[in-house]
Amino acid sequence: MYTHEISIEIKPGTKKEMVFNEFSLLMGAYTQSGQATSVGGNAYWDGSRIVGLLITIERDALKTKYNNIYVNARIAALEALCKSTLQFRIAGKNNDSGVCKCKLPDSYILFTHMFNDASPIECGKCAKPVPLYRLPYYDAHSYYSIQEWERQYKACDQLQLGCTVGEKWALKQMQDANSQLSKEGRSICARMEDLTQTPFYYYLFNYRKFKPGQQQSNCPGCGNMWALNEQLHGFYDYKCEACRLISCKSSNV
Ligand SMILES: [Zn+2]
Ligand SMILES: [Zn+2]
Repeated sequence: MYTHEISIEIKPGTKKEMVFNEFSLLMGAYTQSGQATSVGGNAYWDGSRIVGLLITIERDALKTKYNNIYVNARIAALEALCKSTLQFRIAGKNNDSGVCKCKLPDSYILFTHMFNDASPIECGKCAKPVPLYRLPYYDAHSYYSIQEWERQYKACDQLQLGCTVGEKWALKQMQDANSQLSKEGRSICARMEDLTQTPFYYYLFNYRKFKPGQQQSNCPGCGNMWALNEQLHGFYDYKCEACRLISCKSSNV
């Protein structure tokens, strides 16, 4: 993961409030284009310079070639307002497990959890995160619907990990193949499969729900056996090709 410092100098007489608003819109546009996984806090003023931080999973994620039309429009508007050029600097890098470099992944998995700060899409071949901007746009020039599902999934994970308010409800959302959360995730997978022409699996969370040798070891979609002979990527134990569902053994049976 890389932290990028984005900044722009303003000329005397420029309205700071307008610059702040325009700059914040650009930071948001960088996340909706899939280039940044998050914004590192609010923008701040450093003398006549406004500064913001963006987190990305690849070093070159903010390159112009990955910009969508909204990022380009926001940069143009901001530079016109400030009468200067946007500046980019890599502020630092933390330890990370890498990014998918596969030329042709054989499948993808929609997978996240509360502590995942990389992409919600995992490569089915190498198990590493796939930057969203490497995939076809899901919405008009953006991945907003995928990111919205991701926010809701993480909110459910936070509730179930908190073990108090909404724990049971959140757990059901995460491990029931037909919950509202799963339906949304599965419809994202179906559309992404059409767009990429590559199998796209939906990960079902498992906390004491699917157990080997019991009825739950049957796919919750079609009822067929779905236990894998061999664990996949050292994590997945269940997979149904037909329903495009994937899961793992409960860590606590
Ligand atoms: Zn890969
Ligand atoms: Zn099935």
